Amino acid sequence: MSPPDLVQVLDGLGQGVVVLDPGCRVLYWNRWMERASGRGAAEALGASLLELYPGIDTPAFRRNLKSVLSFGIVAYFSQRIHGQLFPFAPAPGSPEGFELMQQRCAMGPLREEGRVASVYLTVEDVTETVSFQRRLAELALRDVLTSAFNRRFFDRRLGEELERTRRYGHSLGLVMIDIDHFKAVNDGFGHQFGDEALKNLAAVCGQAIRASDVLARYGGEEFCLLLPETDLAETAALAERVRAAVERSPVRAFGRVADLTISAGAAASREGDGPDELLRRADEALYAAKAGGRNRVEASP
Ligand code: GH3
Ligand code: MG
Ligand code: MG
Repeated sequence: MSPPDLVQVLDGLGQGVVVLDPGCRVLYWNRWMERASGRGAAEALGASLLELYPGIDTPAFRRNLKSVLSFGIVAYFSQRIHGQLFPFAPAPGSPEGFELMQQRCAMGPLREEGRVASVYLTVEDVTETVSFQRRLAELALRDVLTSAFNRRFFDRRLGEELERTRRYGHSLGLVMIDIDHFKAVNDGFGHQFGDEALKNLAAVCGQAIRASDVLARYGGEEFCLLLPETDLAETAALAERVRAAVERSPVRAFGRVADLTISAGAAASREGDGPDELLRRADEALYAAKAGGRNRVEASP
């Protein structure tokens, strides 16, 4: 193939190709780069890449450039570490939630008579892959039925939050919630209706908490709330608000309506608490709420 054919191939590629001289001046800028950057080849050719994009001039970029020029190796800029090399807007039709196009880039040598005369840069748009990976990672933390966090995530956060509590001397609140007479709901209205009740409860809890709080489905019909920087009185007050909100929110599904109540146990971390101690106190308080007649909140002393 002759060089003009190759240029046509490069201009048709679905990724960016740039060629730089050893001083980082642009020798070639393919069509994809024109589209993604909004900068035509006429503007880019002959300009210093580091002046066009000062943000690229990082120690990592310099290190990679030096390796390519000195040793002729191919260097990579992983999306996981760098996010992106070029500050381009996401391409039209990209998934939401990204301020910048996510990129995987590579830089390699172009030799003339045995020595590295210039370097090429390739730029791949991986925004869609990153979005998919993030969605999968998020799904792995959530309960399928209610979208509340799952127990695995809850246990991890409980450990992390207790550690933070120890370091900063805050108090960590924990509420354990169990639906009252849920077997009767399932028996009287059917298991599918029971599932709707669980979704309902998760939604009511979700509305009552702050963004920094964690709602998790801890077991079948047990939920936990993790409340960072919250003392026992505030934790019990929140649990009471949730209890009252659930009482006021009958479950409506499949053309039927059922009242639902919950019992809750509230606890707050004490110095030296591990996850087991805090969970045990919340569980004991929940047990006391059940024993005390249900549809109530007890706080662990
Ligand atoms: P209590 O007031 O003492 O809590 O009475 P309860 O009937 O709620 O007793 P318990 O807490 O032991 O009930 C657990 C019930 O929750 C039994 C089980 O069928 C139901 N359950 C657990 N997971 C699910 C689920 O995913 N969907 C539905 N519909 N029901 C569930
Ligand atoms: Mg239960
Ligand atoms: Mg129950």
